[in-house]
Amino acid sequence: MSVPAGAAWPRIRLLPPEVAARIAAGEVIERPASVVKELIENALDAGARTVEVAIEGGGCERIRVRDDGCGIPADQLADAFERHATSKLRDEHDLFAVRTLGFRGEALAAIVAAGDVELVTRPAADPVAALARYRDGRRERLGGAGAAAGTSIEVRDLFAALPARRRFLRAPQAEARAVAQVVQAYALARPDVSFRLSVDGRAALVTDGAGDARAAFAAVHGEARARALLAVDHERAGEDGRVRVQGLVGPPAEHQASRRALYLFANGRSVVSRPLTHAVEEAYHALLPAGRHPIGILQIEVPPDEIDVNVHPTKAEVRFRHERLVYAALATAVRETLRGAPAPGWTPAVPGDQQRWEAARVLLAPRPAGLPVARPSFGVSPEGSRPDVEGHASVAGDMAAGHGQEPLPLSERLPALRALGQVDATYLVAEAPDGLYLVDQHAAHERVLYERIAAARASGRPERQPLLAPVVVALPVAQALLVGQQEEALAAFGFELDAADGRAVIVRAVPAVLADRDPAAALLAYLDRFERETRLSGPDRAVASLACRAAVMAGDRLDLEQQRALLRALEATETPQTCPHGRPTLLHVSSEALARSFGRR
Ligand code: ADP
Ligand code: MG
Repeated sequence: MSVPAGAAWPRIRLLPPEVAARIAAGEVIERPASVVKELIENALDAGARTVEVAIEGGGCERIRVRDDGCGIPADQLADAFERHATSKLRDEHDLFAVRTLGFRGEALAAIVAAGDVELVTRPAADPVAALARYRDGRRERLGGAGAAAGTSIEVRDLFAALPARRRFLRAPQAEARAVAQVVQAYALARPDVSFRLSVDGRAALVTDGAGDARAAFAAVHGEARARALLAVDHERAGEDGRVRVQGLVGPPAEHQASRRALYLFANGRSVVSRPLTHAVEEAYHALLPAGRHPIGILQIEVPPDEIDVNVHPTKAEVRFRHERLVYAALATAVRETLRGAPAPGWTPAVPGDQQRWEAARVLLAPRPAGLPVARPSFGVSPEGSRPDVEGHASVAGDMAAGHGQEPLPLSERLPALRALGQVDATYLVAEAPDGLYLVDQHAAHERVLYERIAAARASGRPERQPLLAPVVVALPVAQALLVGQQEEALAAFGFELDAADGRAVIVRAVPAVLADRDPAAALLAYLDRFERETRLSGPDRAVASLACRAAVMAGDRLDLEQQRALLRALEATETPQTCPHGRPTLLHVSSEALARSFGRR
């Protein structure tokens, strides 16, 4: 407000409490993602082992967060909604040694000022649950209810009464993505807690809560990236404080265009901090291409009295008492990890399918140790374009072309396969120096395409095939929604889509792997596969769905040339023995087993 020259200065007045409450609420609750953040923090502070988040309409229509934590005793429920009401600080000294995520006692008060709220809670020892309902910022009901132990809170019509705030919101899909980013960050910060996020009734993220940070990263960013991460563990203590840095970071070959896949936590709190990010990027100096950023999860731990988390209303910024020590520890921790980068550990594609994998592995005869294996890039070379060299020469050739790869575990190697023919239009028969191979053509092609699509997607350069004439595709409701939600993923695969009237989309380009398909059918088939693909989550799910739809099917006749191309491409994959779902792609009968079976030995 500006005061015209000569006019009297307006009188200073105290704001009415409702107005003050709304201003304060606005600092804490900017968008649906901030509500979700506060509610997750409350759940974690309550010791939850499971946190379920469900949103509709980007969270503006409805947010529900349910936990199995300690609950709120019925007689304290009303207090929990008062401003500056908290069970987490007793006096000002505690403020300088915060051990919980919340402590300001503002979140619930702010949330009821921003939307309609219903909270149901029950400590495990109490026979009945307590319920509190708020509408238009006022309490409407306080009473008993029946519910499981823990707390469930539902927020509806966020910002309905705050049109100014509403105008700043982005499209529901964008708000939903911001919510997902928050849930992802906490799922990674706390792999010991099981998180579930559903967006408009669809499962978007599930972590198992088994405590493995790599598994949590896999749920968020896909198994391939998680597998490549290197472990960081570094501790530093001096007269000027103490700090420990732990976590996982990508090797220099793993990077991405945004900083969003580098998650930093300070004493378990997700933090966004330029200097901290900078310290990590310093460690990668000259190792990453320009404009690309590292990926990983880093947990910084300092004694609680050496960190000030009360810098910002949303607690996203922190200050360290010994800043230099922390930055130095972070940079050193990462640099040392990158220097000593060991070969990444290997885990099966789908942990649950361990047994099937074991079954596939026993069929593979051990191969001589110490022979490094190449990891060609799939984003650029179309399958079959590798030089047609038989025997181990092709492996050596790739090695020379590769860039300093580490030896991989024995089980990953595949010798050069010579195609002999097809059985049942489903299995390829091949010969290798070490015996006979039977290859499931669909599973094998799925594996090939999966890695190629994932690599192209990760590189930010999807292989796309523009259509000569754009095609209009009418979509059913659910699929139209799915297209809306997957805008980014679809573009990352090479789909170029524009919204048309109603629920139709205009397809201008398709991923190169679908180039020989009818574009409308290909899009529908992909969406359909994605919906039914419930065994995988996160990016893996989308990539596997596309790979499945683009792959040759059981029953497709392949000529010898096509068989050769497929085998060549399979040899070049990182994990040739399993399809993206962990099913075996091949069976191996060693020369020795053949000889034994025929009584020659
Ligand atoms: P703060 O988290 O800063 O203490 P909040 O407004 O977020 O403030 O919550 C107020 C109080 O309500 C908390 O201190 C806690 O005692 C209680 N509370 C809120 N959410 C939960 C929950 N999910 N489980 C158990 N107690 C909760
Ligand atoms: Mg809180």
